[in-house]
Amino acid sequence: MSGDARSQAVFMMRLKGKGACPGIAIGIISYFGSSAPEISYKNVNDTESELERVEKAKSAAKAQLLEMYRKALPELGKESAEIFEIQRALIDDTDYNNAIENIITSQKVNAEYAVAVASDNFAAMLSAMPDDYMCARSTDVNDVSQRIIRCLSGSSEKKFHNGKRIICAYDLTPSETFRMDRENVLAFVTARGSSQSHTAILARIMGIPSVIGIGRELTPECDGKTAVVDGTEGIIYIDPTPQVLEDAERKRSAAERRRQLASEFIGRETITADGKKIPVNANISSVSDLESALENDAEGVGLFRTEFLFLECGGLPSEDVQFAVYRHAAETMKGRKLTIRTIDIGADKKSDCIALGHEDNPAMGFRGIRICLEREDIFKTQLKAIFRASAYGKTEVMFPMIISLKEVKMIKEIIREVKTELRIMGTDFDENLKIGIMIETPAAVMISDILAKEVDFFSIGTNDLTQYTLAVDRTNPAVDKFYDPHHEAVKRMIKLTADNAHAAGIKVCICGDLGSDPDMTDWLINAGIDEFSVPPSEVLETRKRISSLRARLKP
Ligand code: PEP
Ligand code: MG
Repeated sequence: MSGDARSQAVFMMRLKGKGACPGIAIGIISYFGSSAPEISYKNVNDTESELERVEKAKSAAKAQLLEMYRKALPELGKESAEIFEIQRALIDDTDYNNAIENIITSQKVNAEYAVAVASDNFAAMLSAMPDDYMCARSTDVNDVSQRIIRCLSGSSEKKFHNGKRIICAYDLTPSETFRMDRENVLAFVTARGSSQSHTAILARIMGIPSVIGIGRELTPECDGKTAVVDGTEGIIYIDPTPQVLEDAERKRSAAERRRQLASEFIGRETITADGKKIPVNANISSVSDLESALENDAEGVGLFRTEFLFLECGGLPSEDVQFAVYRHAAETMKGRKLTIRTIDIGADKKSDCIALGHEDNPAMGFRGIRICLEREDIFKTQLKAIFRASAYGKTEVMFPMIISLKEVKMIKEIIREVKTELRIMGTDFDENLKIGIMIETPAAVMISDILAKEVDFFSIGTNDLTQYTLAVDRTNPAVDKFYDPHHEAVKRMIKLTADNAHAAGIKVCICGDLGSDPDMTDWLINAGIDEFSVPPSEVLETRKRISSLRARLKP
């Protein structure tokens, strides 16, 4: 080993976590830290000068927001850019300003602390309001206040990197992950996180190599360093040795060769070696994933996670906005099916536009269909948009987190109302649009014989089914080692669901991540799974595997 290589070997850091999306990335790290400024607390005598500082910071914050509005207008359109105008107006809100002034003068405290306290009080008050619009403004109050505090303390906002980078972070929320410009993300690496969190799922849908659960050794100091990320083995090498770089290049070429081989399956139907057609669809979380679904020749979309549209837009998307999105998706699929799942907000997918309040145990809390059946206004708006889009392509709808027959009956009643309203309006839609439910709770499995008589298809969500069957929080890294989708209990749940679906004459699909697990393809087709839905980048490999297997259904 040369002296050079030896000294590099000494400094190389090898950190082991868990692979969340396979693949190799080589590049420069950009450490994505929290953008919340630190709040200092100080007693002050000169309250006048604190008030002056607030005024100056407010002017600076308003100037920034105006600049952002002008930039966003041509890029995002008026409706989305408007948010910066709303925030600018908030800065002049009399009650908000009186509160800041009162806190400074009565408590004799520094401006940063006063703004933070006023912000917390205001945000809490707004989020307790029954009106959705006002609830959503609580996030704006926090955002605006952080901006003012940053102007007060001279700290800068966390910027998204420019150019292609490996994104490292302590943790990433699903919406942070979603908002990143995927063209510029080479890999994700986080100190925390679990393999079934929605952040990890998003990374898989985007096909971006990811490693999670590295631990506290992953620090902001790694910013700007070269790294190799091995999403298959779950390792990041910071300042890699020439040998590690060479190995990484070799693995990357091997993966490329595998992709080439799988690409021979483009344009082919998925048929087992003994002649059973088992379509392989793609899971998407936004219309921008459609390109990759089509490039990888998915036979359809088996799961469109629509909640990300709600997480992204910072307010409740109107029926027309949703219709435009679903119609675009339906048209883009050009006759291939598009299965739209109604919003599954809750648990780790918190949306500012639907206030859920604090929950000690959100995975068991207000989530998915529970929210929709309580907030019929939101539910009906989405259903109308979906039904309208069904006039433009082969659309299906399915519902998450079902636990009872009562829920399914309620959904069907609401669908009847939606259809009647659309007919009265003379709006076109597919009268025979298929209705399915996700089987992702043990309750749904155990009554799947009853539920199967009510719907057109089942889609098994193995991510949640594993979580609820094994009582293992899918987002909690501390129990990740207990999260085992191969567990016999989960397999029995899948088999029972498939048997009950077939007894009632309906199809059973799998859209949870187990569908792309190479070790499970054989077992799943023999358990009776009729269709797969997997991340777009996994479609061809899954088709290749299915084509080599036999669907010899066991009695
Ligand atoms: C699942 O639970 O398996 C599923 C597909 O839904 P999500 O991962 O969005 O909860
Ligand atoms: Mg689920």
